[in-house]
Amino acid sequence: MKLAILSRNAKLYSTQRLVEAARERGHTVRVLDPLRCYMAIEPGRFQMHYKGKALTDVDAVIPRIGASISFYGTAVLRQFEMMGSFSPNTSDAILRSRDKLRCHQMLAGEGLGLPLTVFGDNPDDTSDLLGMLGKPPHVIKLNEGTQGTGVILAETASASRSVIEAFRGLYANFLVQEFISEAKGADLRCFVVGDQVVAAMRRQAGEGEFRSNLHRGGTASPVELSPAETDTALRAARVMGLGVAGVDLLRSKSGPLVLEVNSSPGLEGIEAASGVDVAGTIIDFTAAGVRRPPKPPRRR
Ligand code: ADP
Repeated sequence: MKLAILSRNAKLYSTQRLVEAARERGHTVRVLDPLRCYMAIEPGRFQMHYKGKALTDVDAVIPRIGASISFYGTAVLRQFEMMGSFSPNTSDAILRSRDKLRCHQMLAGEGLGLPLTVFGDNPDDTSDLLGMLGKPPHVIKLNEGTQGTGVILAETASASRSVIEAFRGLYANFLVQEFISEAKGADLRCFVVGDQVVAAMRRQAGEGEFRSNLHRGGTASPVELSPAETDTALRAARVMGLGVAGVDLLRSKSGPLVLEVNSSPGLEGIEAASGVDVAGTIIDFTAAGVRRPPKPPRRR
């Protein structure tokens, strides 16, 4: 297949591994900076140019779109979709998963476990809102934060109120959750490709930290998932409509709870911890998607 990887930086581990895995399998692959893709939109005709040249006959696109360029990046991906390229993660699915609130509503709608979550707009309602949540500690999260930034542990109700007031003062969207103490600063990253969890790791937060993100000093180790954890991860990815997803779970008294469904999960930590060629599984899944009978370009 003729494959394009949408990535701002060809030197990133994940991008390099995808290129390597694609070449090993005999595919033609090119890394495109989404911000250098530009497009013309006409009725029934879609064009894409890259650094002065037309891009045509791209069979598949693997999007690695960072949160800071969600809007432009998904517009570029949508244009490729309109031109008939296959993507394991569609532009719609990526946008859906980027909004934590929407993600939680959709997951809860399917009956998937997640920490009790509240959100509200008006300061007059804060007391009742926190009452709906129950006793502190609470976890307050910016709606569009990533890698653990904008995730705050408030140990008392007055700390919760102060953080909420500060976020409101900044016009930031946020949600508030019960703190799952029995997770003990650990979470599970389940890497879903198609209808399988191809790799998993347990991330443990560093000393004095409750966030287990590797970017926040967390450490990763291999983990065996229970059938319930595997099932939850697969269902979460399916609800979001993602072919490739990093589903983060907390182990709790009441079973696995979904924290997040990531549409551009990093490969470095998971490949190192699990020893699995995750990049290869993504390429194979993408090639299989291309081999399916092509759908006619979508018109809206
Ligand atoms: P981000 O998208 O920024 O990674 P997350 O919601 O995944 O934000 O939270 C970051 C980390 O904080 C998680 O990996 C987990 O270790 C911890 N965490 C988040 N929410 C909770 C919670 N409700 N209870 C306990 N720990 C949590």
